[in-house]
Amino acid sequence: MKTTRDCEHCTEPMPLTARRHARYCKPACRAAAHRAARTIPAELTSRPRWIRHTARKVPLTVGGSVASSTDPSTWSRHRDAARSTAGAGLGFVLDGDGVVCLDLDHALDEQGVPLPWAQTIVDAAAGTWVETSRSGRGMHVWGVGQLPHGRRIAVGGGGSVELYADGRYIAVTGRTFGDTPRRLVDVQHVIDALL
Ligand SMILES: [Zn+2]
Repeated sequence: MKTTRDCEHCTEPMPLTARRHARYCKPACRAAAHRAARTIPAELTSRPRWIRHTARKVPLTVGGSVASSTDPSTWSRHRDAARSTAGAGLGFVLDGDGVVCLDLDHALDEQGVPLPWAQTIVDAAAGTWVETSRSGRGMHVWGVGQLPHGRRIAVGGGGSVELYADGRYIAVTGRTFGDTPRRLVDVQHVIDALL
């Protein structure tokens, strides 16, 4: 089930001349995507909880069937998911084992600079890995911590933070934000401050 014909890296439509199973619109996008794949921290790549997803965020198995954030039989190793051409990109499933993701929506301005509320969160979470989202306007702060259930936290200025720890997948781009380190550390103090 190939559901999109967008470049996996820049998300622009693929040129009509692209090979049938091509994943990137141009060599520069392929190179950038491969660089990004190498930046995903081992705390994530070592866990066999990877899926694919369509451009509309429908979760897929590496084979292209519909996957589920609550059915481990539909998840794969990172290596296999990274190799798969199903859908539009990679996703990591949160299953409550302590890996958490703070999803900062509309967090970056058009120049890629964090809005003040987002910068405050990124500063508080210093030491853990942060990536920019597929849209280029959001950020994922990855870390370790505990929370009751995913819950949405509204912030001002049109942005929002959602905290997730289980029963949900996150679209992983591997586009490291700034010089944040390639590791996941305890972000419980950030979670507690937001809740
Ligand atoms: Zn591209």
